Amino acid sequence: MSDIAAPAELAATVQQPSAHNIVCPHCQEVTAVSPANSLPATCGSCQKALFTGQPVNLTDEATFDKTIAQTDIPVLVDFWAPWCGPCHQMAPGYVQVAKQLEPKVRVVKADTEAIASLSARFNIRMVPTMMLFSGGKEIGRRPGAMSGNDIVKWANLLLKNKI
Ligand SMILES: [Zn+2]
Repeated sequence: MSDIAAPAELAATVQQPSAHNIVCPHCQEVTAVSPANSLPATCGSCQKALFTGQPVNLTDEATFDKTIAQTDIPVLVDFWAPWCGPCHQMAPGYVQVAKQLEPKVRVVKADTEAIASLSARFNIRMVPTMMLFSGGKEIGRRPGAMSGNDIVKWANLLLKNKI
């Protein structure tokens, strides 16, 4: 009887969605989340929520590099500085961006004063500058302040063929 084999065949054709590595915003350990849309997910190490609806504030270079390199979903970065007025004006809108784009996109802020090397590394000429990374590589940037809605539209346009 061929139908005895059917359940096994079926099981073989039902692909498990591939896991996405997410760098924890609290302890920076990497957790594999599977599938990506079954969030909210918690960190396997510190048990806190991997997505909080808030931009993750990155203030040291090692955490910045790990977040960009080891987060499997796209990473949106607001390069800002504490002395920059437009950056502060943009901050409430950017919280809304995090609420809208998570968990498809990791939304972070990088303090270019605390991490002084970033401006030279990424050739950032002004703050704020928005940059979108996918697979650890820059896929787009926009210098200047933007509204939350414009950031979401811009990011979605860039990601249309990426995710
Ligand atoms: Zn953690």
